[in-house]
Amino acid sequence: MDLPTEFSLSDLLELPQTAAASSLSELQKLLDEERNRCAQVIAVSPENLTEAQSDEVRVRFTGRKSPLQDWLKSLRNFPAEERKDAGAKINQLKSFLEGEVERFVLACRASAEKLRLEREKVDLTLPLPELNLGSRHPVSAAAQQLLEPLRRLGFTVIDGPELEREFYNFEALNIPAEHPAREMQDTFFVASQWVLRTHTSSVQAHAMLERGVPLRVACAGFTYRNELDLTHVPTFRQIECLVVDKGITLANMRSTLDAFFAEVFGRPVKLRLRSSYFPFTEPSAEIDVQCQQCFGSGCRSCKHTGWLEMGGCGLVNTRVLESCGIDSKVYSGFAFGMGVDRIAMSKFGIADLRSLYEGDVLLSRQLALR
Ligand SMILES: [Zn+2]
Repeated sequence: MDLPTEFSLSDLLELPQTAAASSLSELQKLLDEERNRCAQVIAVSPENLTEAQSDEVRVRFTGRKSPLQDWLKSLRNFPAEERKDAGAKINQLKSFLEGEVERFVLACRASAEKLRLEREKVDLTLPLPELNLGSRHPVSAAAQQLLEPLRRLGFTVIDGPELEREFYNFEALNIPAEHPAREMQDTFFVASQWVLRTHTSSVQAHAMLERGVPLRVACAGFTYRNELDLTHVPTFRQIECLVVDKGITLANMRSTLDAFFAEVFGRPVKLRLRSSYFPFTEPSAEIDVQCQQCFGSGCRSCKHTGWLEMGGCGLVNTRVLESCGIDSKVYSGFAFGMGVDRIAMSKFGIADLRSLYEGDVLLSRQLALR
C-alpha cells in the first residue's frame, strides 16, 4: 500500500475503543480488528517511514502498553472453562504481531540506511586524499645506515638500557666517583645510583659481563647529557663497536676502521688517528676522516683543516676488561664510537643540530627525500 508522504501514521496507530472483552466471541472480534490494523500499517512501504516512526509501530503493537497486555489481564473476567481458549487466541495473535512487526521494523531500517547512503553520494571513483605515511627520522635513518656496514663486517647489533646503573655507565668503564672525566659528562641523575646513560659505552660493560668473550658487538642508541647549544643537544645518538678476543691489536682496529668508513662513504677514505684520552681505552685516539668535499685541500665544511672529526677509538683499557670479568692477560680488545647526529649533520648539511629535534615535519620530510 502506497500512501502519500504526508499520510497520518497516528490515525493508523490509534488504540481500539474497547480494550476489554468478557466472552470468547467479543475477544475474537477485538483480536481480528487488531490483526487487521497491524496488517494495514505494515503494508505501508518502509521508505515512507522514518526509523523513529517504525519504532512507534513496534511500541504500539508489541510494547508494554499495547492492547495485548490489556487482553491478557482481562482473562480473569472469563469463565474458567473458556480461559484456556481465550489465552491461546491472544498468544497466537501476539506471536503473529511480534513476527510481522519485527520484519517491518528491519525493512524500515534498511531503507533508511539506503537513503542515507544515497544522500551522502559516495563516489568510489574519486581519488583518495593524500596519505601522509611519514618516514624514519633523519638521525634514525643515519644510525641504520651506519649499522648496516657493521653487520656486514660481522658485528652483532645489540641494545642496552637508557636508564643505567651508575656502575655500568662509570665504574665499569674506569671512571670512579672522583674521576675528572665525570665532569666532562654532565649527567642526569634520576635517583641515587641511577643515571640516564651518558654514552653507549655502558652497553659494552653489559656485553662483556653478560655475554663473555670473544665479543664483536655494535650498538646504536640514545644518550643523555646536560648540555644545549648549536652543536650540542641533551639527547643525542651514538654508535659504538667493541671487539674483544685473543691477540687483538691496534692493527685490527685500524683495518676495521678503514673497512667501516669505506663502506659508509662508498669508497676508500683516508683516516687519521690523533692521540687522545678516554678513560675506558688506552691508548686512545680521535678518528678524523679526510674531508670528502675538498679531499684535504681545505674548505668551509672542514673549517679549512682538510679533516672531519668523526669519533673516538682505542684499545680497551685493561682495567675495564678486568672490572668486566675478563682476563686482560689473555684477552685484549678495541672499541670505537661516534655521534650519529654529527654524522647526520654533515651528511645533510644541517647548521643547527637542535633543528633535528624540534619535530619539524617539513624538515624531516625534506631530509628523507635525499
Ligand atoms: Zn674540506
